[in-house]
Amino acid sequence: MQHVVPTVGSLVESCAKRITVLEDKLRADPEMLDLNEMETLCLDLGRAWGAVHHLNMVQSSSELRDAIEQVQPQVVELMANLSQSEPISKAYQSMAATLPAAQGENEVTRIVDSALRDAKLSGIFASPEDRERIKKLQMELSRLSHTFRSNVVASRGAWSHTVTDPKDLAGVPDHLLKGLAVNPEQWQEGPWKLDLTQSCMELVKYCQARPTRELLYRASIVVASTGEWDNSQGLVDILQRRQDLAQLLGYGNYADVSLASKSADSTATVESFLTALGHKAQGAARVELEELRALAQELDQLDDLKPWDTGYYAEKLSESLPRVSTFSYLSDLCWSRASKTKFKINSAEVQQYFPADHVMAVFFDFLTTLFGVRIQDATAELEPETLWDPHVRYFQVADADSNKPIASFFLDLYARPGAKSPGAWMDNCVDRSAHLKTVPVAHMVLNLQPPSGGTPTLMSLRDVETLFHEFGHALQHMLTTVAGINNIEWDVVELPSQFMENWVYHKPLLRRLTRHHESGKPMPESMIDSIVAARTFMSGSFTARQVFFSLLDLSLHVSPPTSAEEAVQRQQSMSEAFLARPLLPEDRFLLQFLHIFGGGYAAGYWSYKWAEVLAADAFGRFEEDGALAETAEGERKLEAIGREFRATILAQGGSQNPLRTFEDFRGRPVDYAAFYRQLNLDATQGQ
Ligand SMILES: [Zn+2]
Repeated sequence: MQHVVPTVGSLVESCAKRITVLEDKLRADPEMLDLNEMETLCLDLGRAWGAVHHLNMVQSSSELRDAIEQVQPQVVELMANLSQSEPISKAYQSMAATLPAAQGENEVTRIVDSALRDAKLSGIFASPEDRERIKKLQMELSRLSHTFRSNVVASRGAWSHTVTDPKDLAGVPDHLLKGLAVNPEQWQEGPWKLDLTQSCMELVKYCQARPTRELLYRASIVVASTGEWDNSQGLVDILQRRQDLAQLLGYGNYADVSLASKSADSTATVESFLTALGHKAQGAARVELEELRALAQELDQLDDLKPWDTGYYAEKLSESLPRVSTFSYLSDLCWSRASKTKFKINSAEVQQYFPADHVMAVFFDFLTTLFGVRIQDATAELEPETLWDPHVRYFQVADADSNKPIASFFLDLYARPGAKSPGAWMDNCVDRSAHLKTVPVAHMVLNLQPPSGGTPTLMSLRDVETLFHEFGHALQHMLTTVAGINNIEWDVVELPSQFMENWVYHKPLLRRLTRHHESGKPMPESMIDSIVAARTFMSGSFTARQVFFSLLDLSLHVSPPTSAEEAVQRQQSMSEAFLARPLLPEDRFLLQFLHIFGGGYAAGYWSYKWAEVLAADAFGRFEEDGALAETAEGERKLEAIGREFRATILAQGGSQNPLRTFEDFRGRPVDYAAFYRQLNLDATQGQ
């Protein structure tokens, strides 16, 4: 730990010197740019900093955090100087001019293009006055986004309501009541305090008292819309400045700025994709809403189903399905796939069937079948002190046919509260490089409970899905024959990860993945059925909302409104066009839409859906070609198509436009049919 500050410090220094020497050389002759030299320019610093970052994520300590705090500014400044370097950007420009156009796109043109795009997006090619204005706008935007976010947090945090009459919370499960009780020891008697946190909003699914549901719902749709935390002007200011910035950078609007680093070719393409999907989903959502209306009428003689009733009756409807739970209607402003697949009553029971060792062994075996790679534990080959925790394991990945080693990865499965960050992720430790002759190394990190008292580590369904998801990223990093995950447009990065998630719901594999940790029995077929059914429950309503958010986000960035009223009007009219039921006129959800005003998804909210469509369509080939059949022929096809997926999407990585790679695999451009099928939307006609 004591080495971090001096080591990183001296690496920053030597790297800065190399940058200066290179810049001098390129000023004298821009044609001296050498991509191999660029690859190694800050490689030692990059690796060291990557290792420090990794350690901080998995085995943090106050000493390490202090050390990072001390050196981080130097590293950030150096990286900013490198990306803002005019001589280097200009050298890329002259290299682009000399690349033979006849060769078309290749690994080199991709590197040069993305370097030029980043330079353009940071304003390097603008005039000196414009560069000043760009810098000023960027600073203002970062301040405005920060304020927008703080207002949402403060406004949400300021709302509360005390309930004293137990009748007002009838039907709310005990575990929620305990969380709401003012005095936890008197959770049955009350009083209870309601607020706008996710866990409190859960209660609209269970609360029989309609006025309580309405109260919470109404409070949740006007966050940050009045008084000291009003985001109305902030929203207009952000959109206006983004428009100004786009023009200074040489784009027509901010949607085009966002699109510059994505694979979709134009806003029009994205809009037409979303509109088609939206109408399809709206049709399905209307059917779902009718179902809820009928249920409300039948159960409670309710004639006017209101927005605060839908979550409640959806929950009731889900109870009529075996063990299926739904997502919250109020909290799905943000992506909530996690809660969508959560099991209400029996997640504990489901978990008994997923002992981690068994899941892992079956999963690795499946990867051999699907992609022709063999994964072997090689922890014993490492010196124990190379590992940051004794439970971490190290695996070699080899080609199953030739036995040639391809890559390796570290697997860090268990939670270490206080030292390890929560969540799950894949990180690239070493990249493949022909020039440096390195093979890929990955970090796979999960946060499972370690075995205790004779009980093995058990995984929830969500954990299993996460394992598959993160391995999708890791496989693209490890099985690349060229550029790996570097240089992939970010609307496509989630393609292999979401593709892998599909396999969790492939019944033959799901059956094999399960084995009760005590009885050794596979999961009962009825439980398997409900897991698969839960995936598409209410998917029309869910998709319609996501499409509505995406199109509204795009529209605001294509033609920014000049006033908050205009923004709200647009929100209203688009909700009429795309939801099964329009928003209430008093709904101000835009003023708390953090993904696009307080985060990095501006004019890019649609990319979630886009990656899902690609993943579903890739998986669709397995379905259409009979590779999912449980026959010898099906198995043979599974292996053949899986290897093609490996040779294209996993192997090509960022070395060519990912949509072209997709076409190489699919034999045609992207089609939405498989996605509709996956969500059960294909049975419903759009408008
Ligand atoms: Zn991911």
